[in-house]
Amino acid sequence: MRSYVATEWGKPLELREQETPAPTGKEVLVRITAAGVCHSDLHIHDGYYDLGGGRRLNNAERGVYPPRVLGHEIAGTIEAVGEAAEGVSVGDDVVVYPWIGCGMCDACALGDEQNCPTPRTLGIFFDGGYSTHCLVPEAKYCVPLDGIAPEVAALYACSGITTYHALRKFDEAVFKSEPVLIIGAGGLGMMALTILNGMGGFGAIVADVDENKLEAALANGARAVVNPRDVDVAAQVKALAPSGRGLRMAIDLVGNPETLQLAIDCMVKGGKVVAVGLMGGEFTIPTPFLPMRALTIEGSYVGTLQELRDLMALVREHSIPPPPIEKHTLDEAQQVMDSLRAGKITGRGVLMPAGI
Ligand SMILES: [Zn+2]
Ligand SMILES: [Zn+2]
Repeated sequence: MRSYVATEWGKPLELREQETPAPTGKEVLVRITAAGVCHSDLHIHDGYYDLGGGRRLNNAERGVYPPRVLGHEIAGTIEAVGEAAEGVSVGDDVVVYPWIGCGMCDACALGDEQNCPTPRTLGIFFDGGYSTHCLVPEAKYCVPLDGIAPEVAALYACSGITTYHALRKFDEAVFKSEPVLIIGAGGLGMMALTILNGMGGFGAIVADVDENKLEAALANGARAVVNPRDVDVAAQVKALAPSGRGLRMAIDLVGNPETLQLAIDCMVKGGKVVAVGLMGGEFTIPTPFLPMRALTIEGSYVGTLQELRDLMALVREHSIPPPPIEKHTLDEAQQVMDSLRAGKITGRGVLMPAGI
């Protein structure tokens, strides 16, 4: 097994070769064919999240320690199974649900493993995808590809279910009759746009400061685009609402104080802003505004195992187009992370450890 390992936070990844593990019990060994390089891998590799005001949430405070193989967007072929693994066979092509919980607590019993207080997330708490192989604790976390390319399915395990979970937080009738403001037209934004259209949503107004990304959003089915650099951007968004007064739904995929404020500024009374992005910073709001504007600000974190299954079915049924993907070799892991940090990746960078 060859893996690129974060041996120390903030230091370049190191290549390690070690014996390929043999699965026992319910475990499954996946030979990785695709591993997405996600923006949150950069935060984990940095060793902290920025909380604003000079404060940080360090990995150690979350129980995340090096050495760690990063990468939670994993697809591959089942190479070996433990004696108690059920429902999969050697040779199956699968995408791995990485947001694995303890399997024993109240959150896990509700099917919300992503909210488990003692998570076993692959690529964060356990070793993940920047590797030729990955050990998955239970076969049920392996969802069949059924014809979807591994490099595409890998992204559905993260940005896919993240946006799907967030979009499902809106009232269905409103979702089908009014536009959603999507802030951020990067990888997550394009995923949100195509899934929204695939789900039968009314449509999206996409906001980004990068004109090239706005053009891409229009080419991928946005109803309209706006640039937050314009001083009257909130007025522009409001004018695009069917009522002409403002929107009821926004998703902030960036997550800094300015983007969250923009989302709130575009809402009519009774609006809902779903916060997804983890850019960092600190945000304040006068408390009377929450009741007076009947405003909902709801955080959304990744999605459930069932949502990954449902999303894969939705993608097949509605032929949802895949996001733009750049394929790279496993040995380019550090380079791809550096390019992502520099904003030089178009769509998503995916490592292909079994060959491009
Ligand atoms: Zn991710
Ligand atoms: Zn749990």
